[in-house]
Amino acid sequence: MTFPVPPPFMWACTTCVLLHHQVVASATAGVESVQPELDLSAHIVLDHPADVPPPHTDGCAICRGYARYPDPVTVSRLWAEHRTREHYLPPKMARQM
Ligand SMILES: [Zn+2]
Ligand SMILES: [Zn+2]
Repeated sequence: MTFPVPPPFMWACTTCVLLHHQVVASATAGVESVQPELDLSAHIVLDHPADVPPPHTDGCAICRGYARYPDPVTVSRLWAEHRTREHYLPPKMARQM
């Protein structure tokens, strides 16, 4: 499994670097927990809102699901967390949740 090189804003932030290290370390060790990914995505949405990518328009099933949700406010944060995953996960993994 090859992880992408995170964008510069993540290297400039100690929290991103530490959380990113946990994501890669647990994936490499075969740990099943997605908690490190949830922690990193939540941090990016909270502390780097300008760096959250726009919704995917290339057939992403997850984005389609969130776009159909009747109450956009309820899902806006979860949807944003989904979009941050492309910053630090291989494309296939990034679109899993
Ligand atoms: Zn950060
Ligand atoms: Zn998406």
